[in-house]
Amino acid sequence: MYQILILITVIALVYLIARLARKPKVNISEKSTEMVKCKNCDLNLPKSEAIQSGENWFCSEAHKD
Ligand SMILES: [Zn+2]
Repeated sequence: MYQILILITVIALVYLIARLARKPKVNISEKSTEMVKCKNCDLNLPKSEAIQSGENWFCSEAHKD
């Protein structure tokens, strides 16, 4: 009987540790989806997809000019 209780405890601990370990990854993805506005057409897009030129952000190379 004790073996079953130990097994359940171990599974619960592994599950909790796995959940805690995933949290930092979520924070990183939130940072990478920070939105910026295109200086040319006011389109909002993720920083990772935007093109930076000095202090300004653009949605595409065409709008950079
Ligand atoms: Zn644009």
